[in-house]
Amino acid sequence: MTLRYCPACGAKRLAPESNKRWVCGACAFCYYHNVATAVAVVLRVGEAVLLTQRARNPQQGFLDFPGGFVDPGETLEAAAVRELEEELGLTVDGDALHYRFSLWNRYPYAGVTYPTSDVYFELTLPTRPVLRCADDVAGAYWFPRPGAIPREQLAFPAVLEAVERLTA
Ligand SMILES: [Zn+2]
Repeated sequence: MTLRYCPACGAKRLAPESNKRWVCGACAFCYYHNVATAVAVVLRVGEAVLLTQRARNPQQGFLDFPGGFVDPGETLEAAAVRELEEELGLTVDGDALHYRFSLWNRYPYAGVTYPTSDVYFELTLPTRPVLRCADDVAGAYWFPRPGAIPREQLAFPAVLEAVERLTA
């Protein structure tokens, strides 16, 4: 990422000191490009697992778990519940979410690459629910088990790692 102009004094003297810290040579303003938190939900019905197809870039057309970035002032569980509602029209109880693991990731968007921490929850449903996909979701697909997910269609290396962990 290229940051040159200081947002505090406007001088073209912002320079990276590390992979997360930019400092202005004129006024000493400091900007941290911190890790952004995201949630993903592994929806299960028995062994079957659900993936969504991304309708937009990055990685349009590729498969991903439902989820997204955590908003300011929001818990991980609330973000997961909100994303399931927004992406799939699915209303779930946040207390039913079980933490599985977290993965680091990089999310390129509009010329900026955000380092992320992706938190994976698992949620088991008794039956396959009726889903209503949002504009940013091209489709939602059930796979009979994690091992049946086509690896070459996964959107990000971290999604592949998540599928490998679920398969193990
Ligand atoms: Zn400055």
